[in-house]
Amino acid sequence: MENVIILGSGSAGYTAAIYAGRANLGPLLIEGPQPGGQLTTTTEVENFPGFPKGVDGFELMHLQRQQAERFGARMVSASAVRVELTGPPLRVWLDSGQELQTRALIIATGASARYLGLPSEQALIGHGVSACATCDGAFFRGVPVCVVGGGDTAMEEALFLTRHASEVYIIHRRDRFRASPIMAERALQHPKIRVLWNRVVTEVHDPAAGKVTGVALRDVVTGATERLEVAGYFCAIGHRPNTAIFEGQLELDDQGYIRTEYTRTSRPGVFACGDVQDRVYRQAVTAAGSGCMAAIEATRYLEAHGA
Ligand code: NDP
Repeated sequence: MENVIILGSGSAGYTAAIYAGRANLGPLLIEGPQPGGQLTTTTEVENFPGFPKGVDGFELMHLQRQQAERFGARMVSASAVRVELTGPPLRVWLDSGQELQTRALIIATGASARYLGLPSEQALIGHGVSACATCDGAFFRGVPVCVVGGGDTAMEEALFLTRHASEVYIIHRRDRFRASPIMAERALQHPKIRVLWNRVVTEVHDPAAGKVTGVALRDVVTGATERLEVAGYFCAIGHRPNTAIFEGQLELDDQGYIRTEYTRTSRPGVFACGDVQDRVYRQAVTAAGSGCMAAIEATRYLEAHGA
């Protein structure tokens, strides 16, 4: 039986592993489908303390992973597909079919990009439709692309895409951005970026051709419709928490985030940290902070329960 299993390998999971490792708990970390988490899909992280010149997101996750390993964390390249949290023991099943048992569980499964959900959009994922400019932007060299959304992610995606695309259209459903002023300003001042305010995408063309050739737009103020020629479509409208396997076992809020109090969930011995329980801040540094809290809470729980 394990002392503590950590599900997820972003800033929250790795930080929990560093702290649980230093507490001599020998944590087992299940890396999940995207090792390193969301930060591996960004470029430069400018706001993680300690890196005055910024740090590459992939590099930051690599460093955190190495730091966790230094204190005895063991990494498993697998995903949890089922849990049974009525223990002790708590049980976790991996996609390999293996069953694991643990005294404490730290959930750091993060959040995934949301799409609009249009059938034409879904049909073209991986064929011109993407939610990760740093992963797929280089496929759109010298052609126009669009980004849907008005938050920091949309600004970051649009700015990154200017490296490759001929023009970048930001399509936003309102007349002002949600993004932080510094990011919004950078996007607004970029010569390759054009903002289409008060527009929603009603269709992505052309699933029959097997590639993106444009989008149909509707102006939400005037009702006018238009077609915009683009070869790439990047969706940046926020995220949904990765909590499907915990439904019915843990208390979730109305958007599916795990409810926590100081990282404690509704089940004894089960803790949650990072974006899977945070609908407000969602930063690398707050994820790391809550990962630290979850490991400290798990350590105290194990001490109180004779482990
Ligand atoms: P946000 O929730 O901040 O923004 C989502 C955007 O998508 C909003 O502009 C929203 O419009 C729009 N949107 C949502 N649903 C729809 C829909 N169905 N149709 C059309 N538009 C839609 O998400 P982000 O991913 O941008 O950011 C999440 C968090 O991560 C934030 O706290 C952000 O600050 C942080 N972040 C920080 C970065 C940095 O500091 N470098 C980089 C990236 C993210 P509306 O405004 O009308 O609601």
